[in-house]
Amino acid sequence: MSNTVPDGSLIPLVSLEDTGERLPSSCITRETDLSRWLALNRLEKTSCLKLLDQLLLDTFGIATETPGISNEVTTVDPSHAWKICCDAISSSIPSLRPVVEKTFTETSTCLRPRNSTISQSFTYDRGFHRVPFVYVDYSYSSKSLISLAHEFGHALQITASNDSDVYARMPPISRECCAFVAEHCLIDYARHSAPVLFSGLVAAWAKDNLYYLVDNAETLKRAFNKDTLSYHYSWNYPLARLWSHWLWNERHDNLADLFHTNGTSSEDIWGLKNIASSLDSGPSTLYSQTVPRDD
Ligand SMILES: [Zn+2]
Repeated sequence: MSNTVPDGSLIPLVSLEDTGERLPSSCITRETDLSRWLALNRLEKTSCLKLLDQLLLDTFGIATETPGISNEVTTVDPSHAWKICCDAISSSIPSLRPVVEKTFTETSTCLRPRNSTISQSFTYDRGFHRVPFVYVDYSYSSKSLISLAHEFGHALQITASNDSDVYARMPPISRECCAFVAEHCLIDYARHSAPVLFSGLVAAWAKDNLYYLVDNAETLKRAFNKDTLSYHYSWNYPLARLWSHWLWNERHDNLADLFHTNGTSSEDIWGLKNIASSLDSGPSTLYSQTVPRDD
């Protein structure tokens, strides 16, 4: 499906985000959406539940608010913001620079405030050896910049996967993890190279944590408690968000592999089951020590 925005651009309405993506069908009729979702993401139920419970108890200490700092207005125009995302990811993950620049140059974009025909930011995977399309609800705010980095991350993962010989769509938790890593890249870049943006970005990121790590975690936990519930794309967000947080802190030198690996396993050395033990040593202080506060 497609639709047309006021400037005549043709906008595909199918995206990687919450569009009712179908899980692979199964001939095993008793298999539930939850069990198919676990299989699709190569996850094991026990480790998922453990992480979810810890998330809901806030044992990871990931910020969900930044008192005194809000989602700030920015004067950065969308084309400059797209370039900032390119520079940010290249700076944080230098080995990805060629594919980051290819993504920056070749991706089709529509960066403007949402309207009655487009309700949310998305990236559209047009298929093997075709450049992706990105729409971002860009309204000159810190939240817009975070959204732009997120969608750049999706476009980058698709472009990197197109370098492979065989096309295989990455499991949803893995590709959301890529997008969340791109958000980390932007915030880290702002800390060093665009400090006027930094506190607003952290505030927007922390506010999103409330949605991804609390609201969506509760939704997924309900699915585990009653495994007859139908699949919802938001199931992918809490563990992807947590995974990105952990990889950024613990596996930074290997982040490039995440974008290049089609069908990345979520249960291997990178996997979710390693997160809990790694974070057991204490709460994360990511960003929390560097956010200026209005006392
Ligand atoms: Zn996403």
